[in-house]
Amino acid sequence: MKLRDVKPNPLRVQRMLAMLKQAGVADEAVLRVMGLIPREVFVAPSMAVQAYDDLCLPIGEQQTISMPSVVATMTAALSLKGHEKVLEIGTGCGYQTAVLSKLCRRVYTIERHAPLSRVAVSRLHDLGVTNFTPMVGDGTLGWPEQAPFDAILVTAAGPHVPAALVDQMKPGGVMVIPVGPQETQQKLVKVTKDAHGAVQEQILGPVVFVPLIGAQGAMPTRARG
Ligand code: SAM
Repeated sequence: MKLRDVKPNPLRVQRMLAMLKQAGVADEAVLRVMGLIPREVFVAPSMAVQAYDDLCLPIGEQQTISMPSVVATMTAALSLKGHEKVLEIGTGCGYQTAVLSKLCRRVYTIERHAPLSRVAVSRLHDLGVTNFTPMVGDGTLGWPEQAPFDAILVTAAGPHVPAALVDQMKPGGVMVIPVGPQETQQKLVKVTKDAHGAVQEQILGPVVFVPLIGAQGAMPTRARG
């Protein structure tokens, strides 16, 4: 069977959507899209039964697919209307890219691990997702050639909000990013830039993410003392 013919298990999807509503996700468009995308194809077959549970699961390279409640909360915080050019940092397995692709015009997605990017790109193509452009590289520097972006979603936690990403937000744009020391005391931050370029930050709540590694992020573990 082709990936694009895989239909999400209705009972598991219903349970996941009920859990998301319980967790406070009220954005109907985000809930609709997450109910349509087969999450099990983004994880190893041995983990397919857990794919709709509110868990992060391993995807290789010591990285994880984020919990559905976190994907939903972060996506909803972007308030996408459909016309946006979106930058995603941390392609991972491609699930978040697939969700974004159904809610905006085009997703530019950067992953630092080439093997993860390769698998995600092939999976997204097999699913029939075409409105995305992938790149392997350091997402903390953004994608200057494609900037500015209406919305930026960062799916790994940095020690601070990278200045390069703020620079690449459109006036009126929004960014959602986990910020904080690695794995402890991280907060989900919503950054907005008004029409005059003034930037404001709002804390949405506590989160736990893998580190954002890069020139304007954390250092790779090997490089630490
Ligand atoms: N959105 C992903 C998904 O749906 O699978 C979540 C992936 S995981 C929580 C975060 C990803 O960010 C990892 O794949 C990691 O390799 C990547 N990452 C970390 N630092 C990065 C950087 N500077 N540039 C690009 N990707 C980065």
